[in-house]
Amino acid sequence: MSDLRQRMKELADQVRMHRHRYYVLDQPVISDTEYDALERELRTLEAAHPELADPNSPTLRVGAPPIEAFEKRRHSVPMLSLDNAYTEAELYEWETKWLKLAPDAEPLYATELKVDGLSLSLRYEDRKLVEALTRGDGETGERVTENARTIADIPLVLPPEAPPLLTVRGEVFLSRKRWEELNRQRDARGEPRFANPRNAASGTLKLLDSREVAARGLSFLPWQALWPDGEGMDHARAMASLGVWGFGVMPAHGKGDLASVLGFIAIQAQARLDLPFDTDGVVLKVLDPVVQQRLGATDRVPRWAIAFKYPATQVTTTVLGITWQVGRSGKLTPVAELEAVEVAGSTVRRATLHNADELARLGLRVGHRVFIEKGGEVIPKVVALVPGEEARDLPAPLIPKACPVCAGEVGKTDDAEVAIRCLNPECPAKLVARLQHFGGRSALDIEGLGEALVEQVVASGRFEQPWELFTLLQEPLLGLAFLSGLDRMAEKSAQNLLEALNAARTKPLARWIHALGIPMVGVRTAELLAEAYPSLEALWMAEENRLQAVEEVGPKVAAALRGFAALHPDLPARLAELGVQPAAPEPRELGELPLSGEVAVVTGTLPSLSREEAEALLKRLGAKVTGTVSAKTTLLLAGEKAGTKLAKAETLGIPVRDEAWLRAQDK
Ligand code: AMP
Ligand code: ZN
Repeated sequence: MSDLRQRMKELADQVRMHRHRYYVLDQPVISDTEYDALERELRTLEAAHPELADPNSPTLRVGAPPIEAFEKRRHSVPMLSLDNAYTEAELYEWETKWLKLAPDAEPLYATELKVDGLSLSLRYEDRKLVEALTRGDGETGERVTENARTIADIPLVLPPEAPPLLTVRGEVFLSRKRWEELNRQRDARGEPRFANPRNAASGTLKLLDSREVAARGLSFLPWQALWPDGEGMDHARAMASLGVWGFGVMPAHGKGDLASVLGFIAIQAQARLDLPFDTDGVVLKVLDPVVQQRLGATDRVPRWAIAFKYPATQVTTTVLGITWQVGRSGKLTPVAELEAVEVAGSTVRRATLHNADELARLGLRVGHRVFIEKGGEVIPKVVALVPGEEARDLPAPLIPKACPVCAGEVGKTDDAEVAIRCLNPECPAKLVARLQHFGGRSALDIEGLGEALVEQVVASGRFEQPWELFTLLQEPLLGLAFLSGLDRMAEKSAQNLLEALNAARTKPLARWIHALGIPMVGVRTAELLAEAYPSLEALWMAEENRLQAVEEVGPKVAAALRGFAALHPDLPARLAELGVQPAAPEPRELGELPLSGEVAVVTGTLPSLSREEAEALLKRLGAKVTGTVSAKTTLLLAGEKAGTKLAKAETLGIPVRDEAWLRAQDK
């Protein structure tokens, strides 16, 4: 091969690889400028030596001038849908059903991820891409060939070992990163957002201007191959062949019996969340092509395949109202009150909107239909309007001019900040939020101090600061009388609450520091501060620059601490008066704490502790907490929906514990 041809091949490979890393894997390894230089050199060489140019050159994928409309074409073989299963039982039922039609068949399957995009059928003649059709109604689709040509991982020409006539079907999709970038551009131009990568991909594939399609960075993964001599080849081998001929390969796939498929489904439940694109299930296909033929299809779906669907994390619902919540620092957060919907196994009635800017960006109005999403966080969020809703004539929501709780003045405390806050230092809503935090699980963990009770305690007007609650212990009978006088408070519960308060007086210093609600001081910072300062008095006297010597304490945290101490200069003395004696951290000696020497990993959803809380508790008990399971791990704390980490711990023989066990260690 001539040097020139060699260089052009190298350049084309590199450009392709970098485009893939950038658009699909979301892991660029060179800068945009470096990439541009590679592409420019390739274009220059191709222009000077067209006879040497690669027919699949990535430079051919920039798009053609816009067309008027898409032509409709018939599919040579109809494009069917897939049957769905949502439970293990439904998969067994399906297996029993198809085995009745093919009793002597071996129930083995090829499995692969179900990519959440839209299907596309590619037709190759003489190993050249000649036509790309959308699914349409399954019988006829739209011809989007020019658009398909711009998709970097659709080969334009196949190598000689590929069959001359070939139809490849697969999924067109957009990575989450590209989707987010697209939405940022649309926000800037005041255009409606795409609710999810799938909507964005389908909007993109239907654009009449393929040059614009090229700029959006669509991706493609195949899930079926049809060619005259391919009938005898099983699905897994056919997909592997496509990989050799230049197509992408599903990031997770396998083969085996139903038991092993169920293992695959369990592992992918978690693992798929780390992929750069959305998947919504796992597809099972009967492995043996002869059995597939025998089973055939109904007029809607093949009998030899089924999709196992994970619970949806995104659904649509209607906004019934917009309310404003006041946080600990007085921050006003808009909350969408929703028509109740089921998402990922729980009923959702409210979703956060973060702040007024987000509300404006979404263009949200009461009455709009919206997409809501329940991700890793506990509180669901509104992601976008359902397309078309932005055109409805509904009144814009009002941004509060006064605090919805105390009617006090609202405003920004910091110009750089988008949030508005209630400026009234005595706002009861702030005290409610501060008290909830104070007694919360990661702080003093005061049992019985629930939301309803906190509201009544604040409404009594008796307390101005969370810690003043401890005055109830100064004269226990009066304290008991006060609590018993609250609505629906039995004397027994009042007694229990007083006992819980009493126990809180000597909780560890780190918990106390966190409980006070100092801005920017979370569980971890509180622990580090408690290690550096033996008491609240010492912390209150520390100088700002000395504070910064503590790990994880920067100028902002130090300033927040000093500010809080300046606002409550007598707090340490007042707490001492109230009988509060935080326990100083025990000197860390090996073997002293219940979990000393343990290396722990947390995975899955625990019944009541958040991941942060569980990790804090593990650390407090002396364990070291890491993010990945390895041979060094000595214990895995697992909750529901634990995935790969659980599987790995089990193969390594690492003990697996649950939340109840962890709590039992904390006596
Ligand atoms: P549904 O749209 O829920 O009826 O699911 C059927 C669609 O899933 C098919 O039309 C394909 O577009 C898509 N799909 C995604 N991944 C796969 C896969 N691995 N195998 C088959 N179909 C898939
Ligand atoms: Zn207020």
